[in-house]
Amino acid sequence: QVPLKPGRSLMDWIRLTKSGKDLTGLKGRLIEVTEDELAKHNKKEDCWICIRGFVYNVTPYMEYHPGGEDELMKAAGTDGTDLFDQVHRWVNYESMLKECLVGRMAVKPIAAAKGDIYFNDCLLFVGMLPEKNVLASSTKDLTPRLILVVFSKLLSLDVLLQKYYDWFQTDSLITVVIYTKQKDVNAELVIVDCQDKRLRGEIIMDDYSYLVEVDLDHAVSEDVTVNIAEKVGKVEIILKKKDDIHWKMLGQPCEGHNTLIKRTDRGLFYRKCKLVSKTEVTHDTKLFCLMLPKGTHLRVPTGQHVYLKQIITGTEVVKPYTPVLPFLPLDFQEPPHHDGVHIYLMIKIYSCGLFTQALDHLQIEDYISVSNPEGNFKKSQVQTSEDLILLAGGTGFTPMVKLLNFALAEVSSLRTVKLIFFNKTEDDILWRNQLEQLALKDERFEVQFILSQPTKDWVGRQGKISSSLLSEFVKRRSRKDSKVLVCICGPTPFTEQGVQYLKDLGYSQEEIHAFTA
Ligand code: FAD
Ligand code: NAD
Repeated sequence: QVPLKPGRSLMDWIRLTKSGKDLTGLKGRLIEVTEDELAKHNKKEDCWICIRGFVYNVTPYMEYHPGGEDELMKAAGTDGTDLFDQVHRWVNYESMLKECLVGRMAVKPIAAAKGDIYFNDCLLFVGMLPEKNVLASSTKDLTPRLILVVFSKLLSLDVLLQKYYDWFQTDSLITVVIYTKQKDVNAELVIVDCQDKRLRGEIIMDDYSYLVEVDLDHAVSEDVTVNIAEKVGKVEIILKKKDDIHWKMLGQPCEGHNTLIKRTDRGLFYRKCKLVSKTEVTHDTKLFCLMLPKGTHLRVPTGQHVYLKQIITGTEVVKPYTPVLPFLPLDFQEPPHHDGVHIYLMIKIYSCGLFTQALDHLQIEDYISVSNPEGNFKKSQVQTSEDLILLAGGTGFTPMVKLLNFALAEVSSLRTVKLIFFNKTEDDILWRNQLEQLALKDERFEVQFILSQPTKDWVGRQGKISSSLLSEFVKRRSRKDSKVLVCICGPTPFTEQGVQYLKDLGYSQEEIHAFTA
């Protein structure tokens, strides 16, 4: 993120796109763009970029790009799809850049073959080639096609051409069974949505995503049961028939049905969740409780975030948020209780924030779109830790909530957890009371508050993240060979500086996890 000039906020961009101004220079005409033509537009004052086969003139957007002009220029005159997917595939560029659309890439003789097709290893699999990979073949070819894809990760050739799911019925129930052939499939890896006769079941298998998506043959009731046999990797989705009739088929397959593709190539799926409560945490931060629809089975894993989507003055705007718990549990005797229905988000409302202002204006019972979870934190990073250090700046505390709870409740090797929480003022400290209570209750946990803009009355530590502060608080005091994990989250400069200071203090890359988008 770079500071933007005044008048260059997202809202200003939305206004410009609605002004009727010709942003492509083509007076609304759409053209076919050859690679040679695309390559010519590679300057700041004349910059075209191709994303998933569509070419955009991003010249007018330069000054509005939150990541800065230089980032955008990395893709100038080229296919920026991979770069875009790496940095922020969740951004709804189709909506944001619709007025910048120049046209499609022109026909190129050789199709497909680019992308994730490996022939060297294990398993062949029939699947849809994701749109991105057939890019620039022909206009027709921009739709996914059935091809043979080889997944090097998977098990053996005997599953060649085999589908992963089956279904059966009784008078009142439809059961869809998915055989993942993976051990340890848990509830966090299974995402099911059943609404308006459409069933969508996604199973996450490491970096891959398997999807069953069909328009059901007949209506089913809203509530869905999901059973997971973890050891054998079998997932059962049980639907209740609305009418007691025999189904001839499960339904019509949707695009992407019965495919196993890289997770990052699967589009983000959103469902509408109801806002059920909104409570104050501090003067500017609120805890939003959203309720999942009855037909949804979704658990957001520790350390992962979701995207919220709202239409703001006609443009779809998407922002990431990290679910928390409704409160910090103090007692770890009982296994943690997830009701599976509610998602809690702790969100700071910025007085001039585009998205958070719109969020704050939502009324109880209003709906908001919530995506599937994303993020690269893996619980296994903390599972063997002896010492866990959490560095949080402002709402960068949010990923620490579930992490802290998981570590104290479920990591048996853990000896100490230390949270160093950086805020501007005392009034900004999130859940201070709860954190202090937890520190009193659990001797493994310690919390330190550090303020960057304290009042005169503050007797605690002050300052911003610095080498000297960190060397005092996170210096390795324990055995040299002890297993330490340091997690850091906050404003981008805070996280970047923090990671550098930690490395200077001798922490290795593997011992540091930075939460970012
Ligand atoms: P914008 O319109 O983007 O900003 C408008 C103005 O608000 C800025 O000019 C500035 O004055 C002010 N502002 C915005 N951001 C900041 C900032 N960081 N520091 C100081 N001033 C700022 N936020 C949460 O509250 N809770 C979360 O759980 C959470 N999780 C996140 C997870 C990830 C992976 C990431 C990348 C971000 C997360 N965020 C979280 C931040 C969130 O995505 C938005 O960036 C934030 O809510 C601001 O959005 P906005 O549209 O209201 O502000
Ligand atoms: P804030 O502006 O209130 O700052 C909190 C503290 O962070 C400050 O007291 C200071 O100690 C430190 N800080 C702020 N700016 C700094 C800088 N330039 N250099 C060094 N230290 C700095 O924070 P906020 O408004 O609550 O913002 C929290 C940030 O955390 C947002 O940018 C949000 O996007 C980010 N966030 C990221 C994730 C994630 O990536 N997973 C999750 C939640 C929040």
